[in-house]
Amino acid sequence: MKRTLALLLAALLLVTFALTGCSAQKTNLKLATGSATGTYYAYGAAFTQVLSANIQGLTFDVQSTGASKANIYNLADGEVDMGIVQNDVADYAYRGVDLFDGEQITDFVAIAGMYAEVCQVVGTPNMTSIADLKGKRVSVGDIGSGTEFNAKQILSAYGISFDDITVHNLSFGDSATAFKDGKIDAFFCTAGAPTTAIVELATTNALNILAVDDEHAAKLIADYPFYTQFAIPRGSYKGVDADVMTVAVKATLVCKKSLSDDLVYKITKALFEKKADITTAHPKGAELDAAYAVAGISIDFHPGAAKYFKEVGAMK
Ligand code: GLU
Repeated sequence: MKRTLALLLAALLLVTFALTGCSAQKTNLKLATGSATGTYYAYGAAFTQVLSANIQGLTFDVQSTGASKANIYNLADGEVDMGIVQNDVADYAYRGVDLFDGEQITDFVAIAGMYAEVCQVVGTPNMTSIADLKGKRVSVGDIGSGTEFNAKQILSAYGISFDDITVHNLSFGDSATAFKDGKIDAFFCTAGAPTTAIVELATTNALNILAVDDEHAAKLIADYPFYTQFAIPRGSYKGVDADVMTVAVKATLVCKKSLSDDLVYKITKALFEKKADITTAHPKGAELDAAYAVAGISIDFHPGAAKYFKEVGAMK
């Protein structure tokens, strides 16, 4: 009797071991986001939490970084497995143009475009146009950010170069603090809107969101086709009582090429199928859409992501 029990126990242990052994495959992915006060970081934490809950053995390490350009370098250097980057900056990296200065970086691929990132220019209340930034102290985004590309291009559409302003390289949170302290006159912020750093600033300080008007938007889009026109809805920030026309790009989830097709397929599928849970965790989840995810992305897609988009008819 004792022997039978012992055998039974041993068998049970073996079965348990075999079962957990099969599912115990653990993968931890490092995700590069942006500054702690941006949308990448908060959204990154939100959607990875939902992915982890739905894909067995998958965990994430969400890292704060300088954002788009820094994330592309981090991926190329193998320091991270995934990142969030602007679709325009991903294109410039593949081609080695603009602030990549001839250095082509193609060692990363797209998983999905996720939500609109709005090019917001915050100025003092007496400013009415981007043209007013000439000669002013302006934060053009963090070192390694995508925001800096947008600042350069938008200013240039208004005939202003970085030589015509006093350039500050600050994160969104530091830009808001510097603005509050009167150390800068304006700052650029390319991020999902409403952006927390601006929401908080607007509760204590009067500010103006400066428009990229139709004429300048047309010029910008002719030179840089990744921009689309975008209206920041009135009421997005305290004191902003009318819609503000500007331009937007797209927050894009990218990864290194070497991630397995199976893993990336599962991640892509869960991202769209668990949209409701992601939206509960962060409002930007509401913008998840398979057709939007593949539009305006010029870089290669990971085969695992492409498999999902083909299945749902978003990709040929
Ligand atoms: N799009 C921004 C950049 O690459 C970062 C936005 C964010 O952190 O939410 O500069």
